[in-house]
Amino acid sequence: MTKKLLVTFVVMFVALLTIIGFILIKDSGKDIRPITSTVEPTETPEATVEPTIEPTMDPESDPRFTSTDSVLVFANKKHKLPDGYVPGDLVSLSVSTAYGDVQMRQEAADAIANMFNAANAEGIYPVVTTAYRGEDFQRQLYDNYVNRDGQEAADTYSSRPSYSDHQTGLAADISCEANGYNLNRDFENTAEGQWLAQHAHEYGFVMRYPDGKQDITGYMYEPWHFRYIGVEEATALYNVDPNMTMEEYYGISGGNYAE
Ligand SMILES: [Zn+2]
Repeated sequence: MTKKLLVTFVVMFVALLTIIGFILIKDSGKDIRPITSTVEPTETPEATVEPTIEPTMDPESDPRFTSTDSVLVFANKKHKLPDGYVPGDLVSLSVSTAYGDVQMRQEAADAIANMFNAANAEGIYPVVTTAYRGEDFQRQLYDNYVNRDGQEAADTYSSRPSYSDHQTGLAADISCEANGYNLNRDFENTAEGQWLAQHAHEYGFVMRYPDGKQDITGYMYEPWHFRYIGVEEATALYNVDPNMTMEEYYGISGGNYAE
C-alpha cells in the first residue's frame, strides 16, 4: 500500500516538474521574443532618427525666451510670440537683398553684415530674400498658402501669424544667384549654402530647421533659414552637433501645432 502511494507520489512529482519545466521554457521564450523584436526596428532606416532630448523647460517661464530684448526670443508651433509682438530695434539691412528693403533687429543686422563680408572675401555671395515679417504680413502669406494648398500642407512650410521665427526680427532666408534666389533644398548644394552651413555659427546664426528634424521643429528641412542667437550660443550649439535644433539644445517642446 505505502509502496503504491510512493510510486504515485514520484509519478506526480515528475509530472509536476515536467509541467513547470514547460511553463518556464514557454515563458523564457516569451521573454526572448520581445527583445529580438525591439532590436529589429533599430536596423530599419525608419529608426535612424536620432534620439530626441526630452523637453525639460517651458520657454514661457524664462525671460531669455520671452523678452523682446533677448536674442533668444522663441517661437515654434508649440510656443507663440506675445500678441502684437514687434521688435523695438528693427533696421534696414545693408547687405545684398533679392527684393529690396529688408529689416532685422540691429544686432542681427550687424551680424549678418559681418557674415556676408567674410563670405564675399572668399568669393561667396549670399543674398537675403526675406527677414523680418510682421504679424499682419505673415497672416496674409499664410492665408494665401492655405487657400492654395490647404491648411495641412501650408503648416509644413509656412507659419501661422505669431508663431513665425521671422516675426522675431532675428531670422533671415538666404539664397544666391546660382539658385535663382529660390528657397529650396538645392540651396544646400551651392557654394553659398555650404559656406553658411559651415560658418554661420561664427557670426551668431544657426540653421533653424535642419534636415531630418521635422518632428522636433515642426518644419521640413530649410537649408536657407538662419536664425540669430548670438555668437556664444550659436557656437556652443554647433559644437554639440551642427544638425542640432534650438528645441533640442534648450530642451523646449516642439513639433506640430497643438490644434
Ligand atoms: Zn524662413
